[in-house]
Amino acid sequence: MKYANVDGEKREAFQGGKGLCDCCNQETVAKCGTQKIHHWAHKSLKHCDDWWEPETEWHRQWKSFFPKEWQEVVHFDLKTGEKHIADIKTESGIVIEFQNSPMDIPEMESREKFYQKMVWVINALGFANRFHILGKLPNPKSNFAKDIRFFPQKIKWQGRVFFRISENPYYNNDNEFGMVEIHSISDIEAEIEENYIGHHFFDWEKPREVWYNAVCDVLFDFGGKVLWKLVNMYDDRGLKCVKAIDKQYFIERALASKSK
Ligand SMILES: [Zn+2]
Repeated sequence: MKYANVDGEKREAFQGGKGLCDCCNQETVAKCGTQKIHHWAHKSLKHCDDWWEPETEWHRQWKSFFPKEWQEVVHFDLKTGEKHIADIKTESGIVIEFQNSPMDIPEMESREKFYQKMVWVINALGFANRFHILGKLPNPKSNFAKDIRFFPQKIKWQGRVFFRISENPYYNNDNEFGMVEIHSISDIEAEIEENYIGHHFFDWEKPREVWYNAVCDVLFDFGGKVLWKLVNMYDDRGLKCVKAIDKQYFIERALASKSK
């Protein structure tokens, strides 16, 4: 952990420091070596919060964008007595979790259930070479896009294709690809560009399926200035895509929730 309670004060680890864990109230000792990031560790080896993962520079950098009072906030369920430490909890009550290591679906679901209003920020560097951001898609709310249904996969000889609902009066979402008239996406490049607000096709080899099952927002951080938000339902056929979100904008929007 980055913080511990030292004589009633929320403090970062310092040489020889002793403190108390805000979550379990047990003794913590400051670890200020050269190998690992400076942190507080529980004196007894058992950690109080089994959702906690070892912190990296990546975690620390993300936390540092937010006020100290929002970092490592203990979240307590009055009904069950369950307690966990949220990486960030904004003043308006939204939890932001920074996730570095892979996670299974049951744990992801129990965290979403526990925090309710939360956002996942995923360190995506570990699978960056398997994640390919592809061509642009139009704003799904635009009138242009409402008539278009894209195919998730490229088709041999034709590349990426789409069909128009207006041209296929018998189309309904259940009859799959059966009888629709398809066109090449290159026919509508100009219209896509006109209606572009950041959506893209993507291809993820050996995906971490867990994030396809998340209900809360999932943002992939590949280390650049842009976060890629996973959109699990781009259209009524469940096309998945990603949407570019400026990292600075994401942070500023979260910070602005302070004044509400
Ligand atoms: Zn503890």
